[in-house]
Amino acid sequence: MGMDPWSPFREVMADPLQWARSWKDRTGGKVIGHLLPDVPEEMIHAAGALPLALEGARVTASKAQASLPGYTCSHAMGLLEMGLAGQLDFLDGLIIPYVCDTTRNLYHTWSHTFPQSRHEFLRLPKRLYHPSAREYLRAELDRFGEALGRMTGRYPSLENITLSLSVYQKSRSRLRKAYALHRERPSIWTWERVNLLMASAMKAPREEHLSWMEKLPWEIDQGRKPNGRVPVYVRGKIWDPPGILEMMDELGLLVVGEEMVCGFRSIAGDYGQGDPLEALVSRLISLPLYPGYHDEPGRIVQSFLDRVQESGAKGVIFLNPKFCEAAGFDLPDLQKALEKEKIPALVLETSTRGVSPAQIRVRLEAFREMIGEDLL
Ligand code: SF4
Repeated sequence: MGMDPWSPFREVMADPLQWARSWKDRTGGKVIGHLLPDVPEEMIHAAGALPLALEGARVTASKAQASLPGYTCSHAMGLLEMGLAGQLDFLDGLIIPYVCDTTRNLYHTWSHTFPQSRHEFLRLPKRLYHPSAREYLRAELDRFGEALGRMTGRYPSLENITLSLSVYQKSRSRLRKAYALHRERPSIWTWERVNLLMASAMKAPREEHLSWMEKLPWEIDQGRKPNGRVPVYVRGKIWDPPGILEMMDELGLLVVGEEMVCGFRSIAGDYGQGDPLEALVSRLISLPLYPGYHDEPGRIVQSFLDRVQESGAKGVIFLNPKFCEAAGFDLPDLQKALEKEKIPALVLETSTRGVSPAQIRVRLEAFREMIGEDLL
């Protein structure tokens, strides 16, 4: 019997930190961790290091609670917890992006707690649609390149960034194909599997990941058509609690669109024209606005509604991280707009602190029954 083509991805995701640590031991390469979202992995790749996406959600916090306020989201709290537990000691550097006040506070706490470690704050612009955002981001990426050079000993040259962009382009187009196949053949391309691919792409070397993907069953004719599945759109940050991807598959929910930072956001957007840094700027600016970025409220709502309607979803699930102010601010306007369009919505709050997966399953099941009545 041949090897299961999904197993390399599962090996990475079984314990991503351990996997990266052994990759480093094996190859002598450098590993740069980056908190999601929106750190340009391509530049880390061009600096000759492995970009390792980190998400703190799903980590049970204990020590970190002494350093961060109790109302900090699990994503930020979990990262500090991993640091305090020594799990990130093998990193050659850590990048924390400016997404919201929480990540800014996290960066300062990190600097204070680990003054000897190499870490950098990526100052992403908050108003991506401001006329000067492009120029600002370009300058920030230049500065980021210098910082990466200090961390890795290899400055990411424009030539090397160009090569990295082409690797990432190929990888993202494969991943988008997998994403599309979930709609066509969800019995083979389950939601759990598609996310396994997207999440592991941000933790394993891209070239290797691409070669693993070549061995997957891409033939379009496999698997059953998605009869009886209920199309939903999901807005959130991280797939949390653990097991939620499998839950979506088991409950017959067909994810036709989502905005997760470890999901579609990581494979969306195309590089624009110009030199490679300009290309990166164009991609970042073209991504759907993530909570924490600012725009004119009417535009945030309308573009969200457009994405939901284009996806053909029968309902929207909000997977809001507990204590995420940014997601909380947007929610009432988005809910009102959905209500006006008669699109049902379910709001779930996720956190490693006090949210039960069993409860989430019950609520998802009830929502599926409500919106999928005519499909049963
Ligand atoms: S945007 Fe929300 S979930 Fe993300 S780091 Fe900030 S508070 Fe946490």
